[in-house]
Parts: sequence; structure tokens; C-alpha cells
Amino acid sequence: MTEQGVAKQQGNARRAVVVGGGVSGLATALRLLEGATARGLDLRVDVLEAAPQVGGNLRTSAHDGWRLEWGPNGFLDNEPATLRLVDRLGLRDELVRSSDAARRRFLVVGGRLREIPASPPAFLKTDLFTPRAKLRVLGELLVPRRRDLGRAADDPATDESVWEFGRRRLGRDFAELMLDPMVKGIFGGDARRLSLAAAFPRMVELERDHGSLFRALAAISKQRKRAADAGPSGTLHSFRDGMATLPAALARTLRGDPRATLVTGCAVTSIRRDGAIWRVGVDEGASFDADAVVHAAPAHAAAAHLHDLDPALSGLLDEIPYVPMAVIALGYARGDVAHDLDGFGALIPTCERSRLLGALWTSSIFPGRAPDGRVLLHCMAGGPLDPRVLDDDDDALRDRAVAELRGLMGLRGDPAMTRVFRHPRAIAQYEPGHLDRLRRMDARLAGLPGLHLSGSSYRGVSVNACIKESETMAAAVLDRLAAAGPRVEGGPA
Ligand SMILES: Cc1cc2nc3c(=O)[nH]c(=O)nc-3n(C[C@H](O)[C@H](O)[C@H](O)COP(=O)(O)OP(=O)(O)OC[C@H]3O[C@@H](n4cnc5c(N)ncnc54)[C@H](O)[C@@H]3O)c2cc1C
Repeated sequence: MTEQGVAKQQGNARRAVVVGGGVSGLATALRLLEGATARGLDLRVDVLEAAPQVGGNLRTSAHDGWRLEWGPNGFLDNEPATLRLVDRLGLRDELVRSSDAARRRFLVVGGRLREIPASPPAFLKTDLFTPRAKLRVLGELLVPRRRDLGRAADDPATDESVWEFGRRRLGRDFAELMLDPMVKGIFGGDARRLSLAAAFPRMVELERDHGSLFRALAAISKQRKRAADAGPSGTLHSFRDGMATLPAALARTLRGDPRATLVTGCAVTSIRRDGAIWRVGVDEGASFDADAVVHAAPAHAAAAHLHDLDPALSGLLDEIPYVPMAVIALGYARGDVAHDLDGFGALIPTCERSRLLGALWTSSIFPGRAPDGRVLLHCMAGGPLDPRVLDDDDDALRDRAVAELRGLMGLRGDPAMTRVFRHPRAIAQYEPGHLDRLRRMDARLAGLPGLHLSGSSYRGVSVNACIKESETMAAAVLDRLAAAGPRVEGGPA
């Protein structure tokens, strides 16, 4: 266990422990300290991270001119909380915008690469859909609003899957060719097993408020045109040196704050309660005491830590499934790839029966990802339809990816560089019933004041969602600490 940061002060200061040093935990810790300053609250924050490095899924490997992402390749610039964090950390100049070419996105259909139509005229022209399927999509305007949408979104009886929603409003072909691969791209998941209300709550709102997605899009675009500040565009961004820039800057800032302690290589093993004090046990037998705990490690870790404290809550946490994924980075000499790779990459619908979820043309998206004269592809495999993906060794995963892409992209020979990143539990799957489960978890948490659950297992898997939640989470923790009044003398140390 290595400990950075400065003195652990005792006395009357309030203490918070953050479990997990992924982007959720680190951003929450920073916002806790800033909020405490603004409220004049004396607060100490300990961040405990099991891995030797911070960042969780945000991890970048750089070698020989390659810059490889283990997890996310980027984030959209339409989340104000993320932009606030980027500015707060002084990272604005480090941002890189995705290339214009990356707006072109592809599908693999019938064993061929097909460009996704990006405008209404392109949709009308494409032969990706039959005339009948196109009419069905246009008929969305006439599909009545679901009558039970007024009911709570967390009612399992009204919780429909992304696929069912797509089929109901836009037709089966659209659901199969567009929504199914989109869900693979975001969750590594299966549209048939993902709750629309939990995974894409905005879609539920659009149907509820406008009765039709097309009417909603028209209203939004009218509003945008009217507003002088049309709002950020939702363009994919990353950092010049990769996504690890963000957790590294967060860690630097926390380590520079005398009120914070950031410990890596420190796995939490248990969370117990002693009166009003929370006791967070770690694998070396020590414990960290706190007035508040923000558990920002994945739900399956929280389930283990809370098992003795509240078996029912632990059981609910354990019900949130994760899927395994392999990210296979392939580097080629430019001359060994016949395709121009002029785009973002390609997703592969389930009906293609491929063992890949898709491939990003990473070196076409951001600068500095491959050495001169080389190109970089990031292939994704796994998800709920291929749960044994990690049984294969790295060579088998590489060979499989190369075999699938060879004809599609005109690959010649073996890759000049291969790295495989394994994620046994990559991304939480918000299955139907997820919101109801969160409601039941909240009811249990109400009896455990001072314990908070945060991170990508619950209310959004994107980096943006995690950062947005870090702000609301920090505010909720500080509200509770402030309401609890000054600490009694001789409290936890
Ligand atoms: C392959 C892949 C591609 C992705 N692509 C994108 C993308 O392009 N855009 C996007 O927005 N999102 C993407 N995501 C999702 C996004 O990366 C994650 O949802 C987000 O990074 C989650 O952050 P987090 O802090 O909540 O969780 P994590 O990153 O999982 O961090 C949790 C931390 O808790 C630590 N921990 C676990 N157990 C313990 C313990 N017992 N004690 C202490 N610490 C513990 C872990 O080591 C980890 O550091 C992708 C994810 C994956 C896997």
C-alpha cells in the first residue's frame, strides 16, 4: 500500500472515505473538498483504490509511438459537468477533438461495410433498408405514444427493452440494424436485455413529451436554432496523451491538497458501522473511519463489502450484471490496409453472427494514436452474447479479430503490433427492472445514513454520466454532513 498526500488530521474535522479511484471516485473526492471549502466545512477525504494506479477503466498505454486505450476512447463535449472538470484541472489545452472524418460511421451488413446514413436525404437514398422498412421508420410519426408512459419509469411493468422500444416505434429492421449495434457500441450489451428507461432515459422523455421521436427531434432543432447559445454540439473529444490524462490530473490535484489522502494498492474488504461512525476495512487489516462513505467501486465490489452489514442491499447490488470484454488493439503499416479507414469505425449487428462487437479506426479519430505510416484499430469482443470471450488467449483473440476484419478492411499479413486488454467485468448492464432495483436500494440506504453508492453501476455508464453524478453525489454528502452539525469531540480518527 502506498500513501500519497499529506497529514491525516484528527480532531473535529469531518471525514469522508471514497472507495475506488476510478473517474467517479476521484471526481467525487475533488468536488467534496471544493464543496467543503465553499461551505466552510472542515473535511478530510481519504480515497482508497485497490489497483496500483488510479483511473479504473480510464487507462492509456503508450509505447513506440502507439497510444492505446484500455477502455474509453473519448467523451462527448455536451456534458457541462465534464467541461467544468476539464477547466478546473487546467486541461482545456490538452483536449483533442475527433476528426471530421469520424462523423462517418459504418455497419457490417451482409458481410460488407455499409455507411450509416447521417441525414434524412441519405436515409431515403440508402439501400441499407428496404422501401418497406423505410416507410415503417417514417411511420414513427403515426405510432401512438405508449399509454402507460405517465407511470413511474421505475415500474417494472412499464420497463421495456431498448429493442422492444425500437421495434414498436421504428420497426424491426431499424431495431436490428441500428439500435442493436448502437447498444453494443455503448454498453457492449444486448438491446433485447437492456432497459430503455435506465439506459436511455432521454428516449422515454422524448416519447412522453412529444408523442413521437421525429416530432421531438424537430422541436429540439427548432429550439436550438432559436437559442443564441445553441449549446455544445456533442462532438467526441479525448486528450492529447489519451484518456488517462483525466484521472492523472485528478490524482495530482488531490495529492496537492493537504485535506486529501489518496492510497493506491489498497483494496477495501468490508464496510461496517459503529454507531454514527463508518469503519472501512482494508486488506491489510487496517481500517479508515468516516462520517460518510462514498462507494464508487463497481456494484459487485459493494455487494461483497456490504454483505455483513445489510445482506438485502448486498443481494440487490449483486443482481446488477457486468459483461466481460476484450479490447484488441491492432497496429498495421498503412500500406497493409486497403480500406481508406475514413471514418469512426464499424459496429456489427447481432444478426451478422460475428464474434466481434465492432472495430474503431482509432488513428482516424484522434491524432497521435499511431506512429507515422501506421494505422491503429481497436476491436471489441465479448458482451452478453459471448460470455466466454476471455477463455481465449491473446493470440486466439488476435487471430479471430484479424480473420473477421481481413476481408472487410482489406488487411494484408499479420499486424505489426497487437495488445489485448481484458475486462472480466467491463460494463454494467442496466437490465429491465434496473430502476426498480435502484429504488429498492435507495430504500435500504435510507436506513444507513452516511453511506452512498456512486459510479457507473447505477445511473449512467459513460464518463460524462460518472462526472455529472460526482457533482450531485458530493452535494448530497455535504448536505448531510452539514445537517448533522459539528462533530462530537473524540470522534473517529
Ligand atoms: C472497453 C470499454 C470501453 C468504454 N468506452 C467508453 C467510451 O468510449 N466513452 C465513455 O464515456 N465510456 C466508455 N466506457 C465506460 C466508462 O469507461 C466507465 O463506465 C467509467 O470509466 C466508469 O468509471 P467508474 O469510476 O465509475 O468505475 P471504474 O472505472 O470501474 O473504477 C472503479 C475503481 O474501483 C476500484 N476498486 C474495485 N474494487 C475495489 C476495492 N475493493 N477497493 C478499492 N477500490 C476498488 C477499481 O480498481 C477501479 O479503479 C467504456 C468502458 C469499457 C470497459
